[in-house]
Amino acid sequence: MSGTEAVLRPAVGAVLQPTLDELSRPGRRVDRLPHPPADALAGIPAEQLRALPPALPELDEPQAVRHFVNLSHLNHAVDTGFYPLGSCTMKWNPKLDEWAARLPGFADLHPLVPDALAQGTLQLLWELEQWLCEIAGMRAATLQPAAGAQGELTGILMVRAYHRSRGDAARSEIIVPDSSHGTNPATASMAGYRTVTVPSNARGGVDLVALRAALGPRTAALMLTNPSTLGLFEEQVAEIVEAVHAAGALAYMDGANMNAILGKFRPGAAGFDAMHFNTHKTFSTPHGGGGPGAGPVAVGERLLPFLPTPRVLRESDGTFRLERPGERPTSIGRVRSFVGSTGVLVRAYAYLRAHGGSGLEQASEDAVLAANYLREQLRGAYDLPYERICKHEFVASAATLKRETGVRTLDVAKRLIDYGHHPPTIYFPLIVEEALLIEPTETEARETLDDFAAALLAIAREAHEDPELVRSAPHSAPVRRLDEATAARQPDLHWRPLTGAQMPCPD
Ligand SMILES: *Cc1c(COP(=O)(O)O)cnc(C)c1O
Repeated sequence: MSGTEAVLRPAVGAVLQPTLDELSRPGRRVDRLPHPPADALAGIPAEQLRALPPALPELDEPQAVRHFVNLSHLNHAVDTGFYPLGSCTMKWNPKLDEWAARLPGFADLHPLVPDALAQGTLQLLWELEQWLCEIAGMRAATLQPAAGAQGELTGILMVRAYHRSRGDAARSEIIVPDSSHGTNPATASMAGYRTVTVPSNARGGVDLVALRAALGPRTAALMLTNPSTLGLFEEQVAEIVEAVHAAGALAYMDGANMNAILGKFRPGAAGFDAMHFNTHKTFSTPHGGGGPGAGPVAVGERLLPFLPTPRVLRESDGTFRLERPGERPTSIGRVRSFVGSTGVLVRAYAYLRAHGGSGLEQASEDAVLAANYLREQLRGAYDLPYERICKHEFVASAATLKRETGVRTLDVAKRLIDYGHHPPTIYFPLIVEEALLIEPTETEARETLDDFAAALLAIAREAHEDPELVRSAPHSAPVRRLDEATAARQPDLHWRPLTGAQMPCPD
């Protein structure tokens, strides 16, 4: 008798896994590694030596490998299925870009090598800056920021430096629309500004009357996401930028949604003073796990002197070098170590090279087409709050469904899991009741979009016929409905420190 009771469970698919501590058995290990020589520890000062061995679980190799591979099967990823999270641009990341980023010449380069030994990487960064400026319609860019949010902060720190350089100390406010991403007001307050929120109008754009009333000698900048997090292009962008400049303020564009407008709209040409890209959204790099990313900031004439240092410069003989410390005293300084998230920037470069100008424009057209195609299929089953052509994403709402059946957006999202789809972003933007923010991106096949629409339509039917079925979903996932508040406040993260006594030092 083995002492183990048989349990029924599928051989494949997502099954919850025991923790490594639960699998651990004293003395179990991969014993093929040669022991270190007897005097291996002799050179380490006594006070640096551990009294006890590290408290690590003890496993053999197949257990360890299966643990992590099985855990990975619990994850949804764009490599395993459709990922329609609005405001995130979860598009397919070409494997070609992964190959490029892993080339040893890029991946293994030490960040402190002299410029002469890093010419290839420096050239790539320099060219990438030129292309981003071309797309943005701007003068120059910094590639340093580690993500969009840090790009925003970098941009606003440059705005602050600009006003200070003119002796204009009265500007203490940043204006954001009420549809803005949470990072915009967060950036404003991190840079020491007060956030002033202006409402959206009935068409989902900025209320120009409210904006004009909010603008004044205290305004440092407007931060505008365009297209917005409602998936809508700002129709009055020219009037908005003009009003901002007339008040002596600067116009910052959150470019997280550039995927919709590549080659169609150049923020610099429209008068914006700065914008950031989220290259991990627009130009590939898997980002579901939270990073790393890259948030280059492109600027026009006014902010040029304040760009972070070091920039990559091209010498007259065609070689490249980094700016030297102190070379440009007006700079706001460094915002990140070395030159930025180089691997992410290599992916962006590869993406841009592979697509070319017309390819990028095509990608944006396809993203807009996919969003509008999907949106039209939901008509009648869900509310579509803004009767306009959308850009890369659209907001639907389950407000009517909720009134008629009691089924909420959260229930719809959970039920989608049973249909094999990752739910879209929900309850954001905050200004739409029972919001579903859906971004299909340009990379999905028409059949995938049809399948997703069919699932949403089926769920709306289920809500009318058997609301409890939807309210108690998911029925097929290894974890059912969690208490959201408890899950967020008291996450059940299992970790138990082993004592050294449980783990004798290997001889
Ligand atoms: C994603 C996003 C951000 C933040 O970008 P990160 O790269 O995640 O830091 C800011 N604004 C908008 C509109 C976004 O969608």
